[in-house]
Amino acid sequence: MHGPTPTRRVAVVGGGPAGLIAAERLRAAGLGVDLYEAKGSVGRKFLIAGKGGLNLTHSDPLATFVARYRERAAEVGRWLARFDAGALRDWARELGVETYVGSSGRVFPLDRKAAPLLRGWVRRLREQGVAFHVQHRWTGWDHEGALRFETPHGEVRVRADAAVLALGGGSWPQLGSDGGWQPVLAAHGMDVAPLRPTNCGFDIGWSAHFARRHAGAPLKPLVVHWHDIDGREHALQGEGVVTGTGLEGSVIYSMSATLRALVDRDGEARIALDLAPGRGQAQLREALARPRGRRSLSEHLRRVAGIEGAKAGLLHEALPREALSDPARVADAIKRLPLVLRRPRPLAEAISSAGGIRLEALDGRMMLRARPGTFAAGEMLDWEAPTGGYLLTACFASGLVAAEGLVEWLRETASAPA
Ligand SMILES: Cc1cc2nc3c(=O)[nH]c(=O)nc-3n(C[C@H](O)[C@H](O)[C@H](O)COP(=O)(O)OP(=O)(O)OC[C@H]3O[C@@H](n4cnc5c(N)ncnc54)[C@H](O)[C@@H]3O)c2cc1C
Repeated sequence: MHGPTPTRRVAVVGGGPAGLIAAERLRAAGLGVDLYEAKGSVGRKFLIAGKGGLNLTHSDPLATFVARYRERAAEVGRWLARFDAGALRDWARELGVETYVGSSGRVFPLDRKAAPLLRGWVRRLREQGVAFHVQHRWTGWDHEGALRFETPHGEVRVRADAAVLALGGGSWPQLGSDGGWQPVLAAHGMDVAPLRPTNCGFDIGWSAHFARRHAGAPLKPLVVHWHDIDGREHALQGEGVVTGTGLEGSVIYSMSATLRALVDRDGEARIALDLAPGRGQAQLREALARPRGRRSLSEHLRRVAGIEGAKAGLLHEALPREALSDPARVADAIKRLPLVLRRPRPLAEAISSAGGIRLEALDGRMMLRARPGTFAAGEMLDWEAPTGGYLLTACFASGLVAAEGLVEWLRETASAPA
């Protein structure tokens, strides 16, 4: 279904969810659409997201959903007013992919896979007439405003009536989004906040013994206590995972923006773990003070406090040897085990990135103020959110809003007097 040959051709650069949804919307508006992708295929990060079950969106009420975008809630809220979690689920259904709400409120495709959704989507885009150009790495503009691409056959220059950039952030660069666009846009006068890791692990610096024995071990249930940048106390229950150098896992990811800010300000972030959320401190003290007879300390901890494995290892890591025979100190450490986070893990390992094109560099329809006719969407913009489906939802919503902004801009420029 190609329809009449469109008179205007637009470019979408980047074949992630933000670029693909933009291409879909632009094509639906009757424009000729060329989609350029640096890698040999589109949607690689989307496919990897599918390995974790493809958490497409979340069933939070809208106000709660929007608040996940922190400082950028107002702007992202505007995108979501156009395309929210419900709209994303409807869109997936149109592609034959039903979704369900998991016990945590997260929304997944029934089969928890990304590949069928992506395959069906790309097929439909091709049928609609979107032209895919893979192995085209965008490197900037020439002095006449043409888009420049590196390809296996040399440089290609493309003049488009308008363009959407959707080049992604900088995490997992092997999947194509390597943040290589940052210096290009900065050189063209665009305000870009450096990409930083978010939804990431943090380094602590375990003893070699602890790291060897417990790297990879889950810590659950777990409650993390911390003070935010304004000194307010917070507590969050979730799942942590010991890594060779520190901690990761959903509970740490969801705090990572705050932890990163604390490390920036103080050189470190202090948290305390409650390793036995279901038990009171007094109860633990009493239980641990019971005579343990010939039982080893590990066996005693396991039997009376349910503490074993990596959790027990953490007590050995945090307490001096003599404190381990003091039931009160052990109980206190179980309820508030202090840890010092030194730094976030590198961007390449993070689930997503913070930073990117500052939203102030865009006008209300997501056009770069410094470059009329060029729009931007997705993770390359400066917003962040925890995992839970909020990342993909904002990428979809921003791609759609940018495409609609482009269509409106083209219409206006076409009708403007010469
Ligand atoms: C392991 C992992 C699991 C995740 N799981 C989830 C999840 O379950 N739920 C969720 O909401 N989010 C998840 N995310 C995050 C989510 O996948 C991203 O936020 C989302 O894919 C970003 O979409 P995007 O279109 O902005 O960019 P991307 O998906 O990164 O796509 C950008 C595209 O642009 C291309 N590109 C980059 N530079 C150039 C260039 N110079 N020229 C041409 N093309 C270029 C890239 O190759 C890429 O294909 C996960 C991320 C990771 C790493």
